[in-house]
Amino acid sequence: MNNQFNLSGIIRPHIRDLVPYSSARDEYTGKEGIFLDANENPFGSVVSSPFNRYPDPYQQEIKQLLAPVKGVRPGQIFLGNGSDEAIDLLIRAVCRPGIDNIIIMPPTYGMYEVSAGINDVHVKKVTLTRDFQIDTGKVLESIDPNTKIIWICSPNNPTGNAINPESIQAILGGFTTGIVVVDEAYIDFTSQPSWTTRLDENPNLVVIQTFSKAWGLASLRTGMCFASEELIGILNKIKPPYNIGGPSQLLLLEALQNPGAVSGMVQDILEQRQVLAKKIAGLPQVLKVYPSDSNFLLVRFRDARSAMKHLIDEKIIVRDRSKVVLCEDCLRITVGTAAENEALLESLKGVRY
Ligand SMILES: *Cc1c(COP(=O)(O)O)cnc(C)c1O
Repeated sequence: MNNQFNLSGIIRPHIRDLVPYSSARDEYTGKEGIFLDANENPFGSVVSSPFNRYPDPYQQEIKQLLAPVKGVRPGQIFLGNGSDEAIDLLIRAVCRPGIDNIIIMPPTYGMYEVSAGINDVHVKKVTLTRDFQIDTGKVLESIDPNTKIIWICSPNNPTGNAINPESIQAILGGFTTGIVVVDEAYIDFTSQPSWTTRLDENPNLVVIQTFSKAWGLASLRTGMCFASEELIGILNKIKPPYNIGGPSQLLLLEALQNPGAVSGMVQDILEQRQVLAKKIAGLPQVLKVYPSDSNFLLVRFRDARSAMKHLIDEKIIVRDRSKVVLCEDCLRITVGTAAENEALLESLKGVRY
């Protein structure tokens, strides 16, 4: 149990004291009535579906269905316009521009640093070990009185591996003057359990997930953030009032009627991942395929640049990570369908080495 943690001392004071915008849908939450409060068009929409009404600002129905799927209470859920919105709001909630800092562990997801940069928040970097795990001692040593967020991406992008739970626990236990965000965008592709079920015992823990990867809903732009009710209340206070559009909410409700559908698709991706990893590893152009707990493979080539160019010429697009620390000569390759993976392999066979 983490007794020293005091969230209200970590939230920026002006945000703690902020009176949020009160939307029309905040002030009257009933569903029946003659709605003349929000300056909507009473005659309908210019498209065939009726989208003339503002959506639920807190997405209550979605959270009611999502909570049991994730083993959390509805009040512990925030939905954002992509997880990227949650990343930005977390930084703005706790980091004072020009004063506070965050710790990230490269190579990792780029948005933590970009969001911090937009908000004029300093970024401290503690590189992962050569096997892409956390150097826990160094991370804990890097904490200073102005450190407000430690970002852990597990499974990590672009390396693909899950982070050892003992390291995450050590950081949760060793950092009580800020929050620890575990980004689980790829949680559906690993056998490691999610940290969502550990929120009550770790008040400094925030977990991020997304509908963009396993759920196949990247275009809806909806990310999930799980934390204490107190911190979720702060995010709700500072988010744009109607941050999840009505069409997205409708489709998310449909997705959550049948959450089992995700596991079928995940199973297909995991099968393809295994086949693809084995076949790529057999290519003479390839030095190493790193173990993956996600829906992509990090692959080290003899010459990543020529592999990348060859693939692009054949209109096969992968992600060049060769300029990223510890990822020299590496490409990040999303697991595709069987046919896409075969096309990729055929093309790779033509790469000079
Ligand atoms: C893809 C990804 C996200 C996701 O983003 P959305 O904004 O929800 O689409 C977040 N974190 C990591 C590590 C990712 O790779």
